[in-house]
Amino acid sequence: MSKKRKELQVAALCNGTAIDHIPSNQVFKVLSLLNLGDLKNPVTIGNNLESKKMGTKGIIKISDKFFEEEEINRIALIAPSVVLNIIKDYQVVEKKRISLPQTILGIVKCNNPKCITNNEPMLTRFEVLDNNKVVLNCHYCDIKIQKEDVILK
Ligand SMILES: [Zn+2]
Repeated sequence: MSKKRKELQVAALCNGTAIDHIPSNQVFKVLSLLNLGDLKNPVTIGNNLESKKMGTKGIIKISDKFFEEEEINRIALIAPSVVLNIIKDYQVVEKKRISLPQTILGIVKCNNPKCITNNEPMLTRFEVLDNNKVVLNCHYCDIKIQKEDVILK
């Protein structure tokens, strides 16, 4: 595929956010983590697209939507390779890498069955102890969860 066509895949938005370099098997998880199913804006999903770096990848483009950093950083748990392209007037004006927020509210399940969050209807809350290796610490029961043991709700 020519360079020009490749850029077009990402840049065909007038205004909005293109979430690029999503691992193909995580595209639908990203959609749900961002609650895109509830959004009324036009959303375009491309999956299993050719990628030099990743083999195949997915892209999600959302018109007229600019996410809060905290909102988008949630996907660092499942797809740390993701790049956000902020598009204004058909131009990529900013490329952002994502990173884990300091606190993760509500999307991760605590692995301790005795934890209050597994027994009461309440939001889970984790502090991120290690950004790179991904180590989470439950605010309520103090259990530590490594990346490979993270269960999303
Ligand atoms: Zn807990």
